[in-house]
Amino acid sequence: MKSIVITKPGQISMVEKGIPNPRANEVLIQVMASGICGTDLHIYKGEYLGNYPVIPGHEFSGVVVEIGSQVERFKVGDRVAVEPNISCDNCVNCLNNRQNFCLNWQAIGVTLPGGMQEYVAVPEKAVFSVGDLPFDQGAFVEPLSCVVHGIERAKIKLGDSVAILGAGPIGDLILEMARLQGASHVTMLENNPGRAELARRLGSDRVVDQLDDLIPEKYDVVIDATGVIAVMNRTIDLVRRGGTVLLFGVPPAGKKLELDAFEIFQKGLTLLSSYTSIRNSFQAINLLQTGQINVEPLISHHLLLNELPDAFKMIESRDEAVRKVIILPNE
Ligand SMILES: [Zn+2]
Ligand SMILES: [Zn+2]
Repeated sequence: MKSIVITKPGQISMVEKGIPNPRANEVLIQVMASGICGTDLHIYKGEYLGNYPVIPGHEFSGVVVEIGSQVERFKVGDRVAVEPNISCDNCVNCLNNRQNFCLNWQAIGVTLPGGMQEYVAVPEKAVFSVGDLPFDQGAFVEPLSCVVHGIERAKIKLGDSVAILGAGPIGDLILEMARLQGASHVTMLENNPGRAELARRLGSDRVVDQLDDLIPEKYDVVIDATGVIAVMNRTIDLVRRGGTVLLFGVPPAGKKLELDAFEIFQKGLTLLSSYTSIRNSFQAINLLQTGQINVEPLISHHLLLNELPDAFKMIESRDEAVRKVIILPNE
């Protein structure tokens, strides 16, 4: 089978190797759609906790082609998506319902072989049935799970006014979720015209391209989906007194925010971050299957496995036409 390997930061190649044999508790999946995420780019550039060499891809779906002897929930032919974070279920954090902070954390596509290859074997507990959901939508189960987790933390209320900073694929998912939660108004910050146009199409009431066009103290909930320090620094000014700030985007490691401590105190803010997800895959699958969350407009490209390096370049270019890029490893 064909497999993409990041051998070390900046070095990526396609290799031929044998199809893995699933262990007793594993399911062998033929990968049909594998989404590219900012995290893959960070791993490629050496900016994230990856063990090199690594086979990237943590947002994928496919078909079960073989099951291990102890697998109970799946049979050959099932259509599935994968929850990439593997918790040990036996450390102090796992035992306290905080599997996202597992002390023995592993992740498919980060520390374990991922979905940027034709076949991958993964533990049964990380696999979820998606029924007849199209495969490229199944590739959104993981990012949507993370968004569900973040939105639940932010507790958007009926009638809330929400500002979302950044209208990439994650910002768009946050927009759709905020609408579902009953937000009465959503303003988004986005300076890429193609992304701004899509955000409007998905129901954003207002899209501005400058931070200064956002109104100070206006929004009940402000959500950063950029991870850009200069943008995150402004969230405190935008939120109303007593409001909530959710820092969702992934910032560069080692960088510090500059926030007005007295302003945070005086405004009585709820200041939150959100780290991956905690068993939110069923929710994500339900939302996708029922069409409550529509990811079809978020996808701009379907590419082949050997086109992954080009796809990284495309995403980095921030070209207007590039949104979510889906790799089809078995085409
Ligand atoms: Zn991701
Ligand atoms: Zn654990």
